[in-house]
Amino acid sequence: MSKKFVERITGMDEDFAQWYTDVVTKAELVDYSSVRGSMIIRPYGYALWENIRNELDRRIKETGHENVYMPLFIPESLLQKEKDHIEGFAPEVAWVTHGGDEKLGERLVVRPTSEVLFGEHYKNIIHSYRDLPKLYNQWANVVRWEKTTRPFLRTLEFLWQEGHTCHETEELAQEETVKMLEVYAEICEKFLAIPVVKGQKTEKEKFAGAKHTYTIESLMHDGKALQSATSHHLGDGFAKAFGIQFLDREGKQQYVQQTSWGFTTRIIGAMIMVHGDDRGLVVPPRIAPTQLMIVPIAQHKEGVLDFAYDLKERLDAQFRVGIDASDKKPGWKFNEYEMKGIPLRLEAGPRDIEQNQVVLVRRDTGEKLTVSVDGLEATIASVLEDIQASLLEKARQHREEKTSVAVTFDEFKTQLEEKAGFIKAMWCGEQSCEDKIKEETSATSRCMPFEQESLADECVCCGSKAKHMVYWAKAY
Ligand SMILES: [Zn+2]
Repeated sequence: MSKKFVERITGMDEDFAQWYTDVVTKAELVDYSSVRGSMIIRPYGYALWENIRNELDRRIKETGHENVYMPLFIPESLLQKEKDHIEGFAPEVAWVTHGGDEKLGERLVVRPTSEVLFGEHYKNIIHSYRDLPKLYNQWANVVRWEKTTRPFLRTLEFLWQEGHTCHETEELAQEETVKMLEVYAEICEKFLAIPVVKGQKTEKEKFAGAKHTYTIESLMHDGKALQSATSHHLGDGFAKAFGIQFLDREGKQQYVQQTSWGFTTRIIGAMIMVHGDDRGLVVPPRIAPTQLMIVPIAQHKEGVLDFAYDLKERLDAQFRVGIDASDKKPGWKFNEYEMKGIPLRLEAGPRDIEQNQVVLVRRDTGEKLTVSVDGLEATIASVLEDIQASLLEKARQHREEKTSVAVTFDEFKTQLEEKAGFIKAMWCGEQSCEDKIKEETSATSRCMPFEQESLADECVCCGSKAKHMVYWAKAY
């Protein structure tokens, strides 16, 4: 029974890319649309995003930010004000050239990100140090004309939040940049059970127009890295381009110091690739749209459905509970909810009811627990917490197993081939070495971690004096 069902999903180790595609479509997270590279986020996928978004939004507000909404369109002239920024984004913007039948006097860009719109607005509303800091956040969709696309990981249009802030000093902007990176790391580890490496991007990999970019990087089941969120210290580059000035405490005109930071629907792709298995999705309890699914057994027998519905009503007070009382066979239901990654299944049949017990089945381990109906809430809460913690621990172990150290370029190449994962290696700071490593191995620099280690004195690539330890990997 379960074997036949499993055949519907390609095995992870057989073809990871196909496994991913099978899971996102068969677990009903997305559907393809007629617009190439765009996805329809179905109710289950959207409910996941809402749970992640709600947790993140709460923290964004707790740290003093306010939500706003900016226009979808950006005039070409506005995008061109910051030189590095337009150069970085020009290859992937979508242009609007007509309004109805009429050709526009100036082309419009569908926002790929909103730094310039915030820049224009901030110029109008910031005049004095008393107007600072400005701590704004926007929940929106953005468009980037990507050549190759995959649901959640890379799509023409995606959902995200983008924070944009202005500060009096560089130190305050730096503090904000790192604070928001920490918020992202907390969401990943505490809610999504995804362990992350926090660090700084190299010059080559930083955001177009930023002074510094910070990132959290995670490792997928197949050993590829995924940039999970970024936070940028923009310095005064945009402020100078847009003339965002304020009168400081000494009465002098100064440019504001800015930050921007973003977290996207891409994280759902990370969740799938970190926790999923050959049976489908595995969703961490804290963000699961349904934490517990009740499946009545022999539901045609007297009292079974009443018992199941009473239980649902009781458990609804504390958990996100589903019930499937349809006439599909229990085996079909088991497989379906395993595919959807629902953390716990509760089975209740006539014999269980007689003995005042139910059976709980964990999605992550498949373990079956026969537990008393008395005090069931406490039992469920503790099992869910245990699943949450186990998922993080398992992901951490997987990452450790797939992280290696390379001192020489030969070691680098061998390890990348044999282990496929993160490689920690020293780097001289020159882009030529980054380019060479990418060209010869396809690995890119993921970040210079905050927790630096001294692994060797020389750069892994050129042998010159090393400046930083870097995490390298092939990446999504
Ligand atoms: Zn070098």
